[in-house]
Order: sequence, then C-alpha cells, then structure tokens
Amino acid sequence: MLTKAPRGTKDVLPSESYKWQYVENLMREICEFYGYKEIRTPGFEHTELFLRGVGESTDIVRKEMYTFNDRSGRSITLKAEGTSPAVRAFIEHGLYAETQPTKLYYITPVYRYEKPQAGRLREHHQFGVEIFGAKSASADAEVISIAMTLLKKLGLNNLELRINSVGCPVCRKNYNKVLKEFLKEHLDELCDDCKVRYEVNPLRVLDCKVESCRRVTGEAPLITDYLCDDCRNHFEELKKYLDAMGYNYIVDPRIVRGLDYYTKTAFEIISKDIGAQGTVCGGGRYDGLIEEIGGPSMPGVGFGMGIERLLLTLEQNGIEITKPEGPDLFIAYIGDEAKLFTFTLANKLRFNGLKVEIDHMERSLKAQMKYANKLNAKFAVVIGEEELESKKVKLKNMATGEETEILIDEIEKAIKN
Ligand SMILES: [Zn+2]
Ligand SMILES: [Zn+2]
Repeated sequence: MLTKAPRGTKDVLPSESYKWQYVENLMREICEFYGYKEIRTPGFEHTELFLRGVGESTDIVRKEMYTFNDRSGRSITLKAEGTSPAVRAFIEHGLYAETQPTKLYYITPVYRYEKPQAGRLREHHQFGVEIFGAKSASADAEVISIAMTLLKKLGLNNLELRINSVGCPVCRKNYNKVLKEFLKEHLDELCDDCKVRYEVNPLRVLDCKVESCRRVTGEAPLITDYLCDDCRNHFEELKKYLDAMGYNYIVDPRIVRGLDYYTKTAFEIISKDIGAQGTVCGGGRYDGLIEEIGGPSMPGVGFGMGIERLLLTLEQNGIEITKPEGPDLFIAYIGDEAKLFTFTLANKLRFNGLKVEIDHMERSLKAQMKYANKLNAKFAVVIGEEELESKKVKLKNMATGEETEILIDEIEKAIKN
C-alpha cells in the first residue's frame, strides 16, 4: 500500500514530464495569442457549487464526485470540473464589472470517482478556456478555433468537428415535448438509464451509447428543426464563422449538454484515428450558468480538454514530442581543489544562462566522461591542476570530438557562439 499510488492516479516521471511541459507550454502560448489569461482556482470547493454548476441529474454529481465533510463538518468536493469554479471566481471577485468579455484559461487536475480506463483517471488533468460576457457567435467560433489550433499544432490532422445547437430554455421546452412524445412510443426499447432520463431530462437520451437506444434516437425528431429565431440565427452565424476559417464540420444532433443552463452551441472534436474513444475536446455555450451560480445574467462559452487523453491520442497517432536537449556543458574535474573550482564555475555559468552539469558521485575521470555522454552534453571540459594553473581548458565538442583550447573565462562566450 505504502509504495503504491491510489487507484486511478498516475505519477508523471521525468521520462514523461517533458511531454506534459511541451503540451502545456503550447496551450499557454496559444491562449496568449488569443488574449486569454490564466485563472487558478482551489483544488476543492463547497459541494453546493458543483451541485448547481454541473447539475444534480448528471453522472458527475450522482456518482463521481469526491465529496467529504471537513473537520468542521462543511461539505467539500474536490474540483470535479473547471467551469463552475471559474464562474464562482468571476462572480466572487466582481470581474463581471470590468471590461468585457472576460477570457480565461486553466490547466488543472480534476477528480472523479469513476472506473479507471485508458486516458481516464480518477485524478486527471484538464485544459479549459472560458469566455464570459460575449453573446455573439464569434465567441463560440473563437473558442473552437483555439482548440483546433492547438490540436493541429500538435500534429493531429485527422480531426472531425461536430457541432449542434441545444436551443435555449424557450425553444427546448417545445422540443422536449415532441421528443418525449416520440420516445414514449419506444420506451420498452430504451436502456434502464434512459427510462429515467426520459422522465428527468429526455435530451440526454440522445447521447446514450447503448446500441438499442441509438437505434431509437436515430429516428428521433431533431432539435435543430425546433430552434427559436434567436437560436437558429446564432447557429447559422456560428457556421458562417467556421466556414470563413475553413473548418469542416458535421452537424450532429447527438451532441447534447443536458442541462437548462447549457444553451445554443454544443461541440466536440474527435480524433478519427482511435475510433470510439476519440473525443479529445468538448464544449459549448452556457448562457444560464453564471446567473444559476448567483452572478448577473451573463452569457458564457468554453471547452474542456483532458490532457491524459490528449497525450494518449498523440501517442496512438505516432506523434512524438522531441526529448529535451542535454546540458550545454559538462565540467569534469580531477582532484578536490579542482572539484571546488568546478562547482563554483558551474554555478556562475548557470547564472549566466548555460545548462551545466557536474559530477556529485566521486567518479573517476573516465567515468565522468562516460556520464557526460549519457547526459548528452554538447560540450565538455576537464579541469585539473594543470588547467587551474594555466587558466586554459580544452573545450570538447561531444558530437564531433573536436577540441579547442580556450581560456576558462572564454567558455561562456565560446559555447554561446
Ligand atoms: Zn431558443
Ligand atoms: Zn440508453
């Protein structure tokens, strides 16, 4: 037990962490280009926030949250998703009173008690962006293009963008009635979960993965045929922006976000190389959420992307992230006096911006040079009594084996050149 991480968690070792760094840096960089700023929210929140923000009828709230009472008896829940905490912070700090829109991104662990499977852990990491305060479809198109840009820059080309509109509380009411009438005829063909959904939230029957349910809903009336003018215009506008950016998309009526505060746009991006498990990004508009959580009536749209799933997708597509380079310089030493000098010199060179390695294991000179090779050092020098005396070293280019005699003081310049 003691030396085994809890089920559904995973260590990221140095042999893998460079991949995370690469992907996260790219996320930050792209958000920067789009003017999104990072928000960091706590690892846990009052349980009530997720009950409101995610919805009590969802699987997340019903089965998957890490909820416990703290020592004072408050009900606390580990961050179950990224949007509601961002909305909570937006309200708490009065960001709604500043110039709008508010454009945020986050990279955060989230916690869900579910059956661990490939790319799906109990602690997993999410990259998400949110734009609050903008009701125009250009905002929806912008968040979609952030996701598409990231995925393309990572080398995923076989992407499928699926979009839908789930309407608004006004037009969805009509649609729900029509849908319920339709489903009523097929109740006995639906799975047990969907029989419950039929009562509570019929829209969710549409995204059920059970084959018999899919067969039924394949014939179901489409929400896009029941949108009110406002919702229909918004959907057409979105398509116009996507067309203008040259994105292909499929209108997929199965993409639903079943809660009342999800409105209009819903979308998913699928990487087509890995079949059914291929959804790498999901998002949409939630014009009712900020108000639901206790803020002003303000629109919002965003997406979430699981980082484990993303890395798995890259791997499955044979996309390799370049390993970090070795140190610029390895300084080997002979003798104690030289070691002290080497240690100090290395520190000085690091301060000046070089990546420098030295030996801490009392290796022989030969073993130090072997170690330098293993570290993939670009250059190496050896410092012994003679070098301390003459203040000169032979700078060895580890790739070519070529050696140049220079002053110790010139090492920095020589390497930087
Ligand atoms: Zn509507
Ligand atoms: Zn079902």
